[in-house]
Amino acid sequence: MTYNKKSVEDIDVSGKKVLVRCDFNVPFKDGVITDTKRIVGALPTIEYLVGHGAAVILCSHMGRPHNVFNAELKLSKKEIKKIDELPENEREAATAAALEKAKGDITKLSLKPVAEKLSELLGKPVQMASDVVGPDAKAKAGALKCGEVLLIENVRFHAEEEKNDPAFAKELASMAEIYVNDAFGTAHRAHASTAGVADYLPAVCGFLIEKEISIMGKALNDPERPFVAILGGAKDSDKIGVINSLIEKVDTLIIGGGMAYTFFRALGNSTGTSICEEDKLDLALELIKKAKDRGVNFLLPVDNIIGREYKEDTTFMRIYSDSIPDGWMGLDIGEKTQELFAKSIEGAGTVVWNGPMGVSEWENFASGTRAVARAVAESGAVSIIGGGDSAAAVEQLGFADKMTHISTGGGASLEFLEGLELPGIACLQDK
Ligand code: AMP
Repeated sequence: MTYNKKSVEDIDVSGKKVLVRCDFNVPFKDGVITDTKRIVGALPTIEYLVGHGAAVILCSHMGRPHNVFNAELKLSKKEIKKIDELPENEREAATAAALEKAKGDITKLSLKPVAEKLSELLGKPVQMASDVVGPDAKAKAGALKCGEVLLIENVRFHAEEEKNDPAFAKELASMAEIYVNDAFGTAHRAHASTAGVADYLPAVCGFLIEKEISIMGKALNDPERPFVAILGGAKDSDKIGVINSLIEKVDTLIIGGGMAYTFFRALGNSTGTSICEEDKLDLALELIKKAKDRGVNFLLPVDNIIGREYKEDTTFMRIYSDSIPDGWMGLDIGEKTQELFAKSIEGAGTVVWNGPMGVSEWENFASGTRAVARAVAESGAVSIIGGGDSAAAVEQLGFADKMTHISTGGGASLEFLEGLELPGIACLQDK
């Protein structure tokens, strides 16, 4: 997928009301924002718009709230299932208690703390609306002057957001004259604030999305070679599509993490109690064949660190084999594999990496991911780290500043690499 989308620099924003979709889905602990990266990431676009005389209306989701702004409050499928499992005489009270608890999302998942932090970072007041498309947001948006900034409430407080309801998208659009999408993390979702709104307003991207698509687009379409892709993490099913499409582009494909064990099993090796997707064995063989036919250097682990149980402090040992004994599970790649992978990464021109090489959250099983992170950092290659767990691992292990680009969207970057159309980007105007 090649995108050549207009950005905020390609249109006249001066004197205009601009609705900007940001990704302010920041982590919290005890009511305090623990990581401001996403807010900091949004600053260049906001500052540009403010500096060019726009009145800036920001919106975002936060977490997975209940639809607290709809007339009928609904519980999630999971909550309903839990209540259904209770004895019949307890269900009514449990439903009432769950609905009461759900109302707490209004404060728990409010964007108000984001407005305060943003105001601090921007060095200017950021107004906060207590609703999304209600009277407060509309009044504040209506009165907003050039150079001022307003944040409206969590768009997911309305069920219509994730349903991409056209009437809701139109209401959102009615507050502005231009739409800017700068939330790469949700660009793979066709929601009202990420895509639907573009049906009603001229739509362009912000600097964050522009950077993501230009760096990842170049890597995919015109990579410095050799082009090495490293895929890891837990599930093959999430990444089969990416493996399939990357095989057509890369020179080397490295598979580590829990995903590797499905390939081990497909090749007839024992995998003990390692995670393994039995229904993907044929597909795994097809992918190995496709890689071979295309002359791709396809690398799997040759040794492993295995544990008794899926527990941080489980008994563990190294085995110099690509077969896992009964009663053990593979939780990290071994030293020989680290060397093998590092050698292939050494001379790379481009590296794309998504998914840790083992359970890197646990120190005993982090050395494989650390070794690969070091190899990527020292390779001098254009290095692109998919968001989510691989980005967290690279940061936690101290290699973040050595990478060319760490994507702000896990799911979105995977879909981009797979070549799928991202609705939040496809809806923007072409240059
Ligand atoms: P994903 O979301 O598919 O990228 O998976 C990331 C998760 O995969 C991380 O939480 C890792 O702990 C987990 N993971 C990596 N290797 C293994 C493994 N060998 N066994 C179980 N989980 C793993």
